[in-house]
Amino acid sequence: MQKKSILIHNIGTIVTGDIRDPISSAKTIYIEDGLIAEIGTDKKDADIIINANSLLVTPGLIDSHVHPVFGDFTPVQNSTNWISRYLHGGITRMVSAGELHLPGLPLEKPDPVLFKYLAILSRACYKRYRPSGVKVEAGTLILAPGLKENDFDDLIKADCKNLKFIFFPYDERMDEAKKYREWATKREMIIKIHSGGVSRSGVSRPAGADVIFNIKPDIVGHINGGPIPMSRNDMIKIVESGQFYMEISYCGNFPFAKEVIEKAIGLNLLDKIILGTDTPSGTGVTPRGLLRILAYVASIPKISPEVAICMATGNSAIAHALDTGFIKEGKPADIVIMGKIQGSEGNSHLEALSLGNLLGISVIIIDGEIIVYDRSEQTPPPIKRAFIEEEKR
Ligand SMILES: [Zn+2]
Repeated sequence: MQKKSILIHNIGTIVTGDIRDPISSAKTIYIEDGLIAEIGTDKKDADIIINANSLLVTPGLIDSHVHPVFGDFTPVQNSTNWISRYLHGGITRMVSAGELHLPGLPLEKPDPVLFKYLAILSRACYKRYRPSGVKVEAGTLILAPGLKENDFDDLIKADCKNLKFIFFPYDERMDEAKKYREWATKREMIIKIHSGGVSRSGVSRPAGADVIFNIKPDIVGHINGGPIPMSRNDMIKIVESGQFYMEISYCGNFPFAKEVIEKAIGLNLLDKIILGTDTPSGTGVTPRGLLRILAYVASIPKISPEVAICMATGNSAIAHALDTGFIKEGKPADIVIMGKIQGSEGNSHLEALSLGNLLGISVIIIDGEIIVYDRSEQTPPPIKRAFIEEEKR
């Protein structure tokens, strides 16, 4: 069945997700068959007409670091419906950093066979199951010693392209880790590493600059710690190398996050910064976590708020090779309409964000379908709300 067309008009500001050209002056977006068909259209008609009421329009946010297991349940805090709640924090897509919270999963002695099939199973399930419409990029293999090259082929066949170093014994098996890097590169797979000190599991392996420069991951997971960062010197070496995507985590160290971004400004590396919550975790289930870290990076290190939004959208899409994260013709219509909250300072929605204020969400669209309307259940409502002006039967 063809999806309804949607016309969004009376847009205040569009943040495109593209850090090289973050703001569009267009006031309209036309959505057809789940895709963004025209930006700045003069079409006047559609199946559904949304008046954005001068609010801010951005791509759906991408949480670059989550830990799903199965379904909309997280064993780590025994909570149900967490993904549906994250949706109300503006997240339309999330990337698994490993399904490692499965109760009973042996982590002390990582089993490559078990981990491989866990990734394949999780990928298969989340491909068919989208909690409240959220797209979960799951099936991230936790790398363990003993994997063979044909295991990587099996993963590709199962559509798993994300790999994670966390429990790997770098000291004893670095040559094997480097082999995995080679095999991943050959297959265009993406490697993320748990950087910094030990995690809540108690058995993750610390990884600082030496390990990272040896392995050459694509993405340095939570460079500011999730929860504990590597040493400051190591962190600076990594930023200065300019070689990696660097993930800033909501669950990490805030002074370090500030320093990473300030260094990245000077080195012209802001396109390498992505944002993630690293939750559910010991920090909890955090539906507004990504909005919070967004407000932090938009205010404390003094980058422009639209650039901060690109870090949580387009940058992350490029780092993880996702087909979303941009307000761009031909992209899936994953869109958030939001704005400043009543009582918050700032003359514009973006200025409110740059003062460190949370934004309030009115409407969320995923693949051209309105999923949240007329306000989020997790943020205060924005000062004005977007509304449906007309809907054809
Ligand atoms: Zn994590």
